[in-house]
Amino acid sequence: MRPSIPFTEIDEATIEVAEASSPTPSGIPGPPGHPPTYGRILSAIFFVAPFVALAWLIADGHGVPWMAIVLTVVCIAVLGHAITIGYHRCFTHRSFVPVRWLKITMAVLGSMAFQGSVIGWVADHRRHHRYTDRPGDPHSPIFKGDRPIHGIGGLWHAHVGWCFTVDPTSREHYAPDLLADRDMVLIDHLFVPLAVATFAVPFAIGLAWTGTWAGAFTAFLCAGFVRIGITLNGTWSVNSICHRFGKRPFATRDVSTNFAPLAILTMGEAWHNNHHAFPRSARHGLGHGQIDTSARIIRWFEQLGWISDVQWPDARQVEARLAKAA
Ligand SMILES: [Zn+2]
Ligand SMILES: [Zn+2]
Repeated sequence: MRPSIPFTEIDEATIEVAEASSPTPSGIPGPPGHPPTYGRILSAIFFVAPFVALAWLIADGHGVPWMAIVLTVVCIAVLGHAITIGYHRCFTHRSFVPVRWLKITMAVLGSMAFQGSVIGWVADHRRHHRYTDRPGDPHSPIFKGDRPIHGIGGLWHAHVGWCFTVDPTSREHYAPDLLADRDMVLIDHLFVPLAVATFAVPFAIGLAWTGTWAGAFTAFLCAGFVRIGITLNGTWSVNSICHRFGKRPFATRDVSTNFAPLAILTMGEAWHNNHHAFPRSARHGLGHGQIDTSARIIRWFEQLGWISDVQWPDARQVEARLAKAA
C-alpha cells in the first residue's frame, strides 16, 4: 500500500517518500558533461527534423490534406495528455491512483510521445522539483549544473539545451516506486519499439485512409515529425518560459511562473507556479477561468471509476497561500 501523504505537506513530499525507500544514499548529481558526438548528432536531428518536415510540406505547394491535419491534432491531444496526465501528474506526482489497464495505457501512449522512457522522465522531473532553480536542477534557466546562467543562454538551456548535456539522474534514487512495478519496468524497456511505432502508426493510418503511398508519407511527416516537434516544444516551454515570463501568484522558493498564452498547448501545465506551490494537485489551473484540460479529463476518469485517491486542491489551502504571498 502506498504511504499516505497529507495534502498540506505536498511540497517535495513525493520525493521524500521516494528517497525514504531508495537504496542509494544520495541523489545529488555531478556537474553536467558532454554526450558523445553521435548522441549530439541524433539529438540535433530530432530537434531539427520537425521544422524541416514542416518546411517541406509548405514548399510542396499542394497544401496539407485534411486527413493529415485531423490525424496530427488527434495525436497531439491523445499523446500530449498521456504526458501531462500519465507521466507527470500520475507517475511523477501520484496525484491519483489509476486502475491497472489505464496505468499501462498511459505509460504506453506517453512513451509514444517521444519524450523519453517513462522511468527516466519521472526521475528527471522529480529531480527538477527537488532542486528547482538551484544547482542540481536538470533544466533551469538560471543554473547549469552549479554554474549560474542567464538571458537567452539560460532560456536555451532550460528549453532544449539540457538535452544536449550528459547529466544522468539516478533512477534508483528518484523512482524506486516505479522500478518496483513490473508493468512500468517492462514498458520502460519497450521505449525504442514504441518510439518506432509512433512513426509507423500514422504511416499505416495514412495508407489505410488514402490508399496511396503519398498519403501515408504525408501522415508520417505531419502526425509523426511535426506533431513530435509541437508536443516537445510545448513541454520544453514549461521548463523555459514558465520559469522566466508570466505571473507568480504564489511565493515559491523557485522562479516558476503562470503563463496563460501556453495553457491550451500545454494542456494546463502552463499554470506552473501553481504547480510548484501544490505539486501533488491533480489540477494545475487553480484560479477562476484557468483552462486545464488535463484536470478536466482526470475528473472524467474519476467519474468513470477508473481512478481513485485523487488529490484535488483544497480551496482554503490555496487561499491561505495566496494571502501569504500578497
Ligand atoms: Zn518547474
Ligand atoms: Zn511536476
